[in-house]
Amino acid sequence: QTIGDFFDDMARRQGDREALVSAHEQRRLSYLELQRESNRLAGALLQLGLAPGDRVGIWSHNNVPWVLMQVATAKVGLVLVNINPAYRTSELEYALNKVGCKALVTMQRFKTSDYVGMLRELAPELASAQPGALQAARLPQLRTVAWIDRAGEGGELPGLMRFSALLEKGKADDPRVADIAKTLKATDPVNIQFTSGTTGFPKGATLTHRNILNNGFFIGECMKLTPEDRLCIPVPLYHCFGMVLGNLACLTHGATIVYPNDGFDPLTVMQTVQDERCTGLHGVPTMFIAELDHPRFKEFDFSTLRTGIMAGSPCPTEVMKRVVGQMHLRDITIAYGMTETSPVSCQSSTDTPLDKRVSTVGKVQPHLEIKIVDPEIGAIVPRGVSGEFCTRGYSVMHGYWDDEEKTREAIDAEGWMHTGDLATMDAEGYVNIVGRIKDLVIRGGENIYPREIEEFLYRHPKIQDVQVVGLPDKKYGEELCAWVIPKPGQQLTTDEVREFCKGQIAHYKIPRYIEFVKEFPMTVTGKIQKFKIREAMKEQLG
Ligand code: ATP
Ligand code: MG
Repeated sequence: QTIGDFFDDMARRQGDREALVSAHEQRRLSYLELQRESNRLAGALLQLGLAPGDRVGIWSHNNVPWVLMQVATAKVGLVLVNINPAYRTSELEYALNKVGCKALVTMQRFKTSDYVGMLRELAPELASAQPGALQAARLPQLRTVAWIDRAGEGGELPGLMRFSALLEKGKADDPRVADIAKTLKATDPVNIQFTSGTTGFPKGATLTHRNILNNGFFIGECMKLTPEDRLCIPVPLYHCFGMVLGNLACLTHGATIVYPNDGFDPLTVMQTVQDERCTGLHGVPTMFIAELDHPRFKEFDFSTLRTGIMAGSPCPTEVMKRVVGQMHLRDITIAYGMTETSPVSCQSSTDTPLDKRVSTVGKVQPHLEIKIVDPEIGAIVPRGVSGEFCTRGYSVMHGYWDDEEKTREAIDAEGWMHTGDLATMDAEGYVNIVGRIKDLVIRGGENIYPREIEEFLYRHPKIQDVQVVGLPDKKYGEELCAWVIPKPGQQLTTDEVREFCKGQIAHYKIPRYIEFVKEFPMTVTGKIQKFKIREAMKEQLG
């Protein structure tokens, strides 16, 4: 089955029940309306001259057009290329050209970001182009750009199409849409999804219907979603978290998708959960922290909440306990995965005992295989010993787009995806993620897990946040370096930090370099880019 087949089946069953609520656009769509609109859009995309296999980009925050694009492209075999709204011109140019996008749908502007302005900078030819016939020197494959207009918004943008006008071109019963749908296979690519860029340059993972439809379905099963559920999704759709754990988990279970805002804002999230009587809430750890610590947190009613997922980066047990206790999210789980595996490999179910649910990433998802191996020799390590997390099964990507070499490095001949993450598995099969191989520090032959030292330093009363990395060192191979953000108004010295460590952790784990900073280099998905910390230190130390 393809995403289109599955969705049409759901639309028949759910009919007039709500599929999508976009609070910031003040729009509500039933399953039938979502089906009708996405069929029209699919027809309109064909009228632009696009054909199955062509790549179409979306460069936008969460909104109704995004979902229409997701369903419509899947129905007619187009490959939706998910472009991060934080990208600027050079990243956009790279992404569009890397995969050869023929059409792009974007916002006009958002807050201080002028998306159309950035496109014009790259392609000045846009101003005088006929929609569908753009010829731009730096974006040679791109033919059409549409901008997402809001109801009643006046003015035209030369060379660009309004999204509403594009939609009007299509007919809900265009026979070509149904004809193409019949020719599609579950193993056809449906998505190109760029990784977060935490460890370096983002890589474009090619994902198929089979990959993400199954993963979305099983994630929804773990959460026990039903058509009664209303899931608040503040996490961005340009990442698998929003697109699969959010949209597809809901659409495969007849549940309702709820977008509080475009771009994250804790207050709107809490308001929307209350007003829309949401039963679920997703977030990366930093989002939940922003909600829990918000001065107005206590004003909101979370009594309808039941479930949700925390994922994307290490999820502190303390934060999990707070969301269970203070936000009523008694069935929340942690999920672990990566873009290349559609994304989730491990997740608890709502039946998992609470202590396991808050302290581990759960067990392997149904129908997948996992193993934890010694990264050097490839042999499976004993339970409790850390090694590289590998997974195999329906979820493993088709490959990196147009990059056979990188694909071969990631997926071995037996089909195992090597994640680059270090994990342990306990006797019962629960998995813990202990860090990334790239971040593991080997100092004088001793393996040091930065996360262990970070967790230890968090306990210092004057430390708000801390990141530990390894730096090259002539004598020991590597030396430890800690970047520390002190709590507001606190004075802290390197001696105080070292003193705090002495006698508490082994001497070789005490960071040689300690720097006080105001912030860490981060991706927009809220992940800390340790490679940038290492680069900055190398420059500073010469
Ligand atoms: P890049 O591959 O471009 O460097 P990235 O790996 O951060 O970026 P993603 O695919 O978005 O890009 O993220 C997957 C990674 O996020 C995993 O490999 C893992 O390191 C981390 N991660 C995801 N979920 C969890 C979790 N629950 N606990 C700890 N780490 C997690
Ligand atoms: Mg990665």
